[in-house]
Amino acid sequence: MSDRSPLVRGMRDLYAEELASIRIVESVFRDTLESYGYELIRLPTMERTALFSRGIGESTDAVSKEMFTLDDETESLSLRPEGTASCVRAVIDANLYRGNQPKLWYVGSMFRHERPQLGRYREFFQVGAEAFGFNGPDVDTELIRIVQDVWERLDVTNEITLEINSLGNTASRLRHRDALVDYFEGCRDDLDEDSQRRLEINPLRILDSKNERTQEIVERAPNMSDYLDDESRRHFDEFQERLARLGIHATVNHRLVRGLDYYTHGVFEWNTARLGAQKQVGGGGRYDGLCELLGGAPCPAAGFAIGVDRVALLRKEIGLKTPASTPDVYVLALSDEEEEYALQVASQLRETSSFGVRVHQGGGKAKARMRAADRSGASIALIIGAQEAADNQVSIKWLRINREQVTVPVTDLPTTLLTSN
Ligand code: AMP
Repeated sequence: MSDRSPLVRGMRDLYAEELASIRIVESVFRDTLESYGYELIRLPTMERTALFSRGIGESTDAVSKEMFTLDDETESLSLRPEGTASCVRAVIDANLYRGNQPKLWYVGSMFRHERPQLGRYREFFQVGAEAFGFNGPDVDTELIRIVQDVWERLDVTNEITLEINSLGNTASRLRHRDALVDYFEGCRDDLDEDSQRRLEINPLRILDSKNERTQEIVERAPNMSDYLDDESRRHFDEFQERLARLGIHATVNHRLVRGLDYYTHGVFEWNTARLGAQKQVGGGGRYDGLCELLGGAPCPAAGFAIGVDRVALLRKEIGLKTPASTPDVYVLALSDEEEEYALQVASQLRETSSFGVRVHQGGGKAKARMRAADRSGASIALIIGAQEAADNQVSIKWLRINREQVTVPVTDLPTTLLTSN
């Protein structure tokens, strides 16, 4: 026997309940986003490394430490750590924003070389949405409203809190940046190593540091809100007013800068207290400068990304069960003679209903066939013996509820099954 090849660290095989709960989260996002008129875009899993280092920023962990990078013959390629940079690239490449204001959404695997633990994987799933061409904050509020609708549909509203902040426009950010550099230079030696490096590249990111000592220093750092100019302040005020009008509760967190470098104006994060250290379920904001930074025409944009795995875990944590998808109906001929008829019954049922219909295969005695029906997880067995085959009938046996078996003409099958569920 050859050696087994074990699963790669941080990767998962997903099936049964775990997959079912991920699919529920994704499908509620899909339905909700499409109900708001957002259009699906399917993006590649691999891009040039330069797209991420320019678009997300060298000072982020996601780019500087966590990318899965491979060197192709002539260039460096990486598995995507997030979706926004690719989405912006796609919009620029196809000129989708010329005379148009695309609202796009995506879902798919993202890859980050992080230390795996519950809620943190090396391959995980995100759903994201991006709206191009709007100055906001109307669209920023819509994005939050969409996610709020999803929380409601998934029954997790009470478990998730929303934090917001404003990073201001470029002028405000630069003034704040100067103030931060002055402040952090004064205590450079007390900062952790990463923060010292960030002081050169992007001092704003120091506010994001997880290092305890640095966090104490950050507590006294200059507040962005004191550096917002009139335009930035108006934008943020209106953003907050619009959220309040929708009845969406948001807490302002002046230290919220998001892990990625490209944000401007309103930024937001959704957190839960139910998942320990992996408390962040999603985030987003406005990134008016990104299109230009990636070589496109200037174009305001805003978006969000949600960690699907964490939302699924959260639902499990609060006791919301998602049954695995099993066949609804198991069709079994009691002997090989009736197999042809059983196949016809199954085909007919598939054509006339939306039931998942599995047919018994592999032969065996009648008892073994019944056991296989039960093991399949189906809720209904359609039993076909010689009599049923001769009379164009089927016997219906309910496997999960206490109900008497009945025999009906095959033409009545869909209605009988539908009314019995
Ligand atoms: P980010 O792109 O860093 O803002 O991440 C958006 C969301 O993706 C986060 O809020 C998490 O819910 C999720 N996420 C980020 N990294 C991971 C990971 N390694 N494993 C699972 N989920 C993640």
